[in-house]
Amino acid sequence: MLPTRTKLKNLPQHVDMLVIGGGITGAGVALLAAQQGLRVLLVEQKDYAWGTSSRSSKMVHGGLRYLAQGAVGLTRESLREREILINELPGLVQRHSYLFPVYKKQFPGRWAMGAALMLYDWFAGVRDHQWLPLKKLQQQLPFMAVHKINGAMRYTDAATDDSRLVLRVLQEACAEGAEVINYVQARSIEAINSSDGSPAHSEVTLVDALTQEERVITANHVVNATGTWADELSAAAPKIRPLRGSHLIFAAHKLPVNYALALLHPVDKRLIFVFPWYGHTVVGTTDLDHTQPKFEEAYAEQEEIDYLLQLIKARFPHCNIDYKDIISTQAGVRPIIRSGKDIKPSEEDRGHLVWQAPGRITVSGGKLTTFRIMGLDVLLAAGLIDKREYKRRYRQKTLFRHEINWPTGLGHLDAAQPITTADTATLQAWWHWAIHKEQVVHLDDLMLRRTHIGNLTPDGGQALLTANQAWLQQQLGWDNERWASELARYLQIWQGYYQPKR
Ligand SMILES: Cc1cc2nc3c(=O)[nH]c(=O)nc-3n(C[C@H](O)[C@H](O)[C@H](O)COP(=O)(O)OP(=O)(O)OC[C@H]3O[C@@H](n4cnc5c(N)ncnc54)[C@H](O)[C@@H]3O)c2cc1C
Repeated sequence: MLPTRTKLKNLPQHVDMLVIGGGITGAGVALLAAQQGLRVLLVEQKDYAWGTSSRSSKMVHGGLRYLAQGAVGLTRESLREREILINELPGLVQRHSYLFPVYKKQFPGRWAMGAALMLYDWFAGVRDHQWLPLKKLQQQLPFMAVHKINGAMRYTDAATDDSRLVLRVLQEACAEGAEVINYVQARSIEAINSSDGSPAHSEVTLVDALTQEERVITANHVVNATGTWADELSAAAPKIRPLRGSHLIFAAHKLPVNYALALLHPVDKRLIFVFPWYGHTVVGTTDLDHTQPKFEEAYAEQEEIDYLLQLIKARFPHCNIDYKDIISTQAGVRPIIRSGKDIKPSEEDRGHLVWQAPGRITVSGGKLTTFRIMGLDVLLAAGLIDKREYKRRYRQKTLFRHEINWPTGLGHLDAAQPITTADTATLQAWWHWAIHKEQVVHLDDLMLRRTHIGNLTPDGGQALLTANQAWLQQQLGWDNERWASELARYLQIWQGYYQPKR
């Protein structure tokens, strides 16, 4: 559990490490530093996982695509991390079967895929792929068009609930002694030198977004883990190429898939995933330069929706999927370390980078899957561990030492009851936990990141909110006026960024 959100004035005046950014990267850095015995404070300007970390394709994976692009090191590292997380967080990170249909006379064919998957499995230390002939594929996926398909390769990767993964890492960090606070923005960082000119510590100006109160806190190490926004605080030449990826979410009965599917888009042959998630089907993602306003939530644009629908219509013509079937959209922005080359978004490297300027260490890029390695790289750059200790911890296969007893079904991908059909008692148990143990500040925190009701119900969960209004008001301690303003805020966010654009 997270401690109750405190006031700015109650935060410590000095910490060993101040982490800026409450996505997976910041959470991972905070956890690893707290495990070193450091006094750690993490601040997040909005809600935990509000940035990219609640808008991913929910895969903890090696990345077959990266292997195909020759990023062997990244794939191998990610697969190692995948296996650690599957073992450490059962229920939250779950091994799932994926199918890659193989088309006649189209690369990659059966043997090329088989060879790639041998390597993929070998890196992960598992043997878990097989060829499904066409007949078997049709039995598994009766709604998929099989024209020109030979069969499919079945392999495994893992799926997760991304925002709850961030919460789980933060909860572990807190259990190790870290302090975390949301809705606090770091405005500036200043390096302070001692009288002999050597760096002494940093001063960070923090602003509470709820009260506009301001306070300066000092830290021996400041880590800028602000993802796509990293250039704002890095005090270095810009390095980020923000690339947007959007998803469409459908009811499972409209687009039924038992497996996650890795499909090539009929137009540009990009890999798109169609996967089951909490009793729904998610389709994504796109990959394009993000030019929407930098400090607002990203949203799926009309052309991205059309592009993803084009794939669904071509591959699942009998499902009669159309625009009206989209329950919600979800768009996120990848913090990609720009190569500086004139290349397509999908060709940019997905690795991470750690760089330094006076008074701060910046870490960005990478993946949800590789947060532990990113954290280790930060500790190394900060001089908090040496290369020997780095290697020892890199090889370690355990990360979590504390049990966090979430209510049954919360954050459990295979829970029998999908979120939206949960009975009132179950739903209220989840909300109760989130409200009292996970620093819920606004209604959107509860609906979009602690649970995903906002993404998985056609009205953004409005009917559920109305049905539970009195109970929620009591739990949240909100009078009618606060409820009305929170509801208006939530609906504005939902309609602006999650409701399909036309
Ligand atoms: C469409 C898409 C699909 C993806 N799919 C996958 C996948 O399936 N598997 C995978 O492993 N990876 C995936 N990724 C990549 C992965 O999601 C990201 O690499 C990861 O979430 C980035 O995490 P982060 O913590 O660095 O950034 P973020 O999650 O964006 O966190 C940064 C945080 O910093 C906060 N912040 C910014 N400025 C300040 C400030 N001044 N003060 C305080 N806080 C601040 C922001 O509010 C934000 O919450 C995907 C990415 C996208 C976009």
